Amino acid sequence: MENIYDYSLEELKAWFKSNGESAFRGKQVFDYLYKGIADIDQMKTINEEAKEKLRKNFKVALPKILEKRTSKDGTIKMLMLLEDHNIIETVIMKYHYGYSVCVSSQIGCKMGCTFCASTKGGMVRNLSSGEILSQVIASQLLVGERMSHVVLMGSGEPLDNFDQVMKFLELINAKEGLNLSHRNITISTCGLVDRIYELADRKLQITLAISLHETTDERRKLIMPIANKYSIHDILNSVKYYMDKTGRRVSFEYALVKGSNDTEDDARALAKLLHGMQVHVNLIPVNAIKEMLFLPSTNESVNRFRDVLLSHKIEATVRREMGSDIDAACGQLRRSYLENM
Ligand code: SAH
Repeated sequence: MENIYDYSLEELKAWFKSNGESAFRGKQVFDYLYKGIADIDQMKTINEEAKEKLRKNFKVALPKILEKRTSKDGTIKMLMLLEDHNIIETVIMKYHYGYSVCVSSQIGCKMGCTFCASTKGGMVRNLSSGEILSQVIASQLLVGERMSHVVLMGSGEPLDNFDQVMKFLELINAKEGLNLSHRNITISTCGLVDRIYELADRKLQITLAISLHETTDERRKLIMPIANKYSIHDILNSVKYYMDKTGRRVSFEYALVKGSNDTEDDARALAKLLHGMQVHVNLIPVNAIKEMLFLPSTNESVNRFRDVLLSHKIEATVRREMGSDIDAACGQLRRSYLENM
């Protein structure tokens, strides 16, 4: 059965029409769904016959919050249970400008980055557009406020689930739905170059973030298997194309690992790579994960790294560590949950 949240308003209206109901019923159901009423029994204005058709044809449910942890800094990390009993992670972060929610795009991940907990159990399946969207709706219901930003930085490689992620971007942007501007959405990728070109051609106004983490292919291959397929040179060319097509600046993520990629020489090498490009670098002290023996860089090295970039006119900020007291980093809560089952 299809997930009803995969349907746009137009598609839902069309479905009702072709099933002997008025298009207006579609609009009513749509409004219920976006108010978070994902229970057919509670859709009071829908007649019994139409309800029965819905029950027969759709999965109508928001993911259930299985576990919720709140950090001292206000970050809320949730484990969400899907209809098929798979579990995903969603994280809500509170900033001065509002709430930002970090959603998963796949169950697990197959990219195999050595430092990332999400990939340790491999990939189970793609999430559908509606499953990505309903993480945002469930988050809004939980805190009782609108999510002003959405980042696709939870489990999964969004560009490996391209079609569903594109549909999600359409759904979340719809006026009658959440009406969230693409400018408030970030897609993070480990660098699927062919898909970056494809995305560029769509000319969307989203923010693209590239997980770079190293400055040479040789070293990048040691931590990110995708580097065997696409070189840093390929990535940079695709980013230039992306910026050209969309007029958007691109971000680079660089996770700093103590004694590994955090020296001043590394910073200079990064500055050289990005020279002349209008980009932003997000420096993230790596989050230690149980499966791997590595440590985050010290504050001192992080700041030094940032200063080298700034002195080369590369815009760089250090990402505030959020929710580290609650295993909020990158797939860790799901991992520990699955291990203890
Ligand atoms: N697959 C996508 C999006 C999910 S990961 C991507 O690779 O970009 C989101 C970000 O978290 C990526 O930059 C990823 O490299 C980073 N990340 C994963 N594990 C991490 C860890 N242990 N510490 C710091 N950053 C990590």
